[in-house]
Amino acid sequence: MHFDRIVRGGTVVTPAGSFTGDVGIVGEKIAALGSTLDPGEGTQVIDATGHHVLPGILDVHVHLELPFCGTVSADDYRTGTRAGARGGVTTLIDFAIPFAGDSLEQAADNWMRKAEGKALVDYTFHICITRWSEHKSQVKGMVDRGFTTFKEFMIYESEGWQSDDRALFGTLEQMREYGTMLLVHAESARVLDELIARHHTPELMSRYGARLHPMTRPNFVEAEAIQRAIQWCEVTGGRLYIVHMSTAEGADLVRAAQARGVPVVAETCAQYLVLDDSVFDRDDGHLFACCPQVKKPKDVERLWKGLRGGEVSVISTDTCTFSREQKATWNGDWTKIPMGLPGLETLLPLTYTHGVLGGKLSIEELCLKLSTNPARIMGLYPRKGGITIGADADLVIIHPTATRAVDPATMETNADWSPYLGWELAGFARTTLSRGEVIVDDYRVVGREGRGQWLPRTSAG
Ligand SMILES: [Zn+2]
Repeated sequence: MHFDRIVRGGTVVTPAGSFTGDVGIVGEKIAALGSTLDPGEGTQVIDATGHHVLPGILDVHVHLELPFCGTVSADDYRTGTRAGARGGVTTLIDFAIPFAGDSLEQAADNWMRKAEGKALVDYTFHICITRWSEHKSQVKGMVDRGFTTFKEFMIYESEGWQSDDRALFGTLEQMREYGTMLLVHAESARVLDELIARHHTPELMSRYGARLHPMTRPNFVEAEAIQRAIQWCEVTGGRLYIVHMSTAEGADLVRAAQARGVPVVAETCAQYLVLDDSVFDRDDGHLFACCPQVKKPKDVERLWKGLRGGEVSVISTDTCTFSREQKATWNGDWTKIPMGLPGLETLLPLTYTHGVLGGKLSIEELCLKLSTNPARIMGLYPRKGGITIGADADLVIIHPTATRAVDPATMETNADWSPYLGWELAGFARTTLSRGEVIVDDYRVVGREGRGQWLPRTSAG
């Protein structure tokens, strides 16, 4: 067999185990795995000796160029996918959200336009259902077009996105019928509104500042909503995916539901594994506002345990980047902070450093939570999510111990700050390949913008 490229001599990691050897690539696909593959004339040999070779990372929870909180998030498809590539992310899934009177079709078209000509890595979208009575008749058409994951928000009435129980129940019935999956942002809207209203006074705002963000979102706000969503999942049989789960209570609820055979899975995000709400005590604490906010050390510990135990299937980022200037518009009112953090570039380094080097996950488990599980659950496996023959040659090569300091000045993201500023992290991509093409070389992005492709799907869950 003639190979276009051979990734030579690395520790090749798969969820089933690891081996030292070569990955042979023909065109865009992985064509052979072996202890030593023979290069032919013109074969490019990429030396991975002393490095880990992982399947490309999937970040299945990303918002690029999102109009939100009165502004637009600062990473678009150009900078967002470059940031991803440098963090080993070769596939991302964004959320196509209908605005004003948009249909689901128009929302998808709108997001296609954002990505086309700019994306460096492959992508698709979850389709957000924001006005169920209008959108319910459009769901099947989106499935036929290759979108198999839908999203509903249990909060964000002010953004015009909120779904009620009727919508959740009805959509889950449709998911069951079509073999597709519903993603839910689970927070309890009415109780959250009430807690925010009680605290929204000049006295409390001057006294507590950004600390009011965690103070008004106690864990039961998430737990009640997860419980309710699981209830509708259980009675309809429609597949449910809890996005950005941040609480110990949530992990307990998902574990108990899975034990009863309820078709629910959960994701957490890197920030919920490495930060806690003591960040809001800092002078720049408002920068750390994301939704839901980072919780307590006991929640952090429980989420790591859930990754091991299986009730947390996926680690993503909920990337929604805002600059310091955008964050500054809060002016002391925590309800006006643009909520979101940069994340694509640091997902793998944080998970590798704190998970694998920190002794909380094996490298195979990392591979499962960042690549194989998200690909399977989102209907992209086996094209994505594993180092197997016939799969897309999406690979990331990392040094096992060499660290780099997190410094926004040297990063691809448009964020001019980082929640992890100065942290020494291993796991940045030395080399990233996307469909056989080197897009990051020696820690620098070398791929061409616009080469990323939209990924059609036929199922999910
Ligand atoms: Zn999100």
